[in-house]
Amino acid sequence: MGPAQQPSYPDQVAVEAAVARLRTQPPLVFAGECDELKAKIGAVARGEAFLLQGGDCAETFAGVTADNVRNKLRVILQMAVVLTYAASVPVVKLGRLAGQYAKPRSSDFETRDGITLPAYRGDAVNGYEFSEDSRRHDPQRLVDVYNASAATLNLVRAFVTGGYADLRQVHAWNTDFVRESTAGQRYEEMANDIARALTFMKAIGADPDEFHRVDFHSSHEALVLEYEHAMTRIDSRTQLPYDVSGHFVWIGERTRQLDGAHVEMLRHIQNPIGVKLGPTTSADDALALAGRLNPDNEPGRLTFITRFGAARIRDGLPQLIEKVTAAGVEVAWVCDPMHGNTFEASSGYKTRRFDDVIDEVQGFFDVHRSLGTWPGGIHVELTGDDVTECVGGGELLDEAGLADRYESVCDPRLNRVQSLELAFLVAKMLRQ
Ligand code: PEP
Ligand code: MN
Repeated sequence: MGPAQQPSYPDQVAVEAAVARLRTQPPLVFAGECDELKAKIGAVARGEAFLLQGGDCAETFAGVTADNVRNKLRVILQMAVVLTYAASVPVVKLGRLAGQYAKPRSSDFETRDGITLPAYRGDAVNGYEFSEDSRRHDPQRLVDVYNASAATLNLVRAFVTGGYADLRQVHAWNTDFVRESTAGQRYEEMANDIARALTFMKAIGADPDEFHRVDFHSSHEALVLEYEHAMTRIDSRTQLPYDVSGHFVWIGERTRQLDGAHVEMLRHIQNPIGVKLGPTTSADDALALAGRLNPDNEPGRLTFITRFGAARIRDGLPQLIEKVTAAGVEVAWVCDPMHGNTFEASSGYKTRRFDDVIDEVQGFFDVHRSLGTWPGGIHVELTGDDVTECVGGGELLDEAGLADRYESVCDPRLNRVQSLELAFLVAKMLRQ
């Protein structure tokens, strides 16, 4: 059997042409930037920083617009301000963007009205439209991923240095949210506290560079091996290989086999990397992964992103953390409260309950607090738009409301208001 979750291309010559093209392209990110991020995640592992990783389940080529990227970035920056205030440590901002185009699937096929076609595997592999032509696996799409990622990163780099990320501006958006939405009103007190802190800084004349720009990094699941291989380059400074398709790449729950191709590939790159750990992960699995992926126990190199589900985190997570900590393994612990909480609504939409998402994060905090370890961050699927994909939250979206604006081509995302609410609720957990 070949590597898990790979495309099956009909034409190998076309694959080689796409890979050859990718190999000639400039890097999307630079090795030095990956090292900087690794140092920041090292601080997360030590309990001196908090990680916020967020973005779409699956980016689409059609979604590469200035509005879409700006809205997503904006909501992540808004969340980061609230979390920074509450955590009193730096928040490392990591987008699930500029490369998040390939999806693992539980089934290779999808049947609609008696017609069976290949499942949608993300814009990196095939089209979402349900037709034979669109669902064919096309290697030219890997080159399109490169171009879409380059365009997205270009926007992001401009936004985060060009005044858009100004701290007072971002806080002004948060006060708009608190004032204008019913969901936001509950968080007025904390928003006022942040406003007072900013006024104080202004009064004493503090105006550091950090108020006017932010550090932001890109991440995606390293799934399609042809793409990640083609984007792996030897860094001229260190002579070591970096995957220059994104700053941080992770291995998904379905491809984390110890002897699998994904672990083998990521083992050799210098980037900071993550592994998703679902509820079936044993402590020995986690230790073996750490041994394979971070044999030198380098701080910031490895992040464990747990996604147990709200119902299982309190029982399942403690033994994992205990054994990993006892073994002296350096790792940042991050909570993905999305992927263990997905269910199908009676209307057929894939959805998640906002309360389950919050409950899993609370469980994650409770477990870490009781063990004396650091709840290092959250990994969420979100968008800056007012979509209707997850139920609940302060706006009380119900299952019937899902049809209003369900736009995800894969998993349900928190919308703008739900994302901001999550940030304020996690802020409360951080301050407890
Ligand atoms: C995802 O992050 O979209 C995903 C598929 O997650 P997991 O690998 O944890 O199932
Ligand atoms: Mn997902």
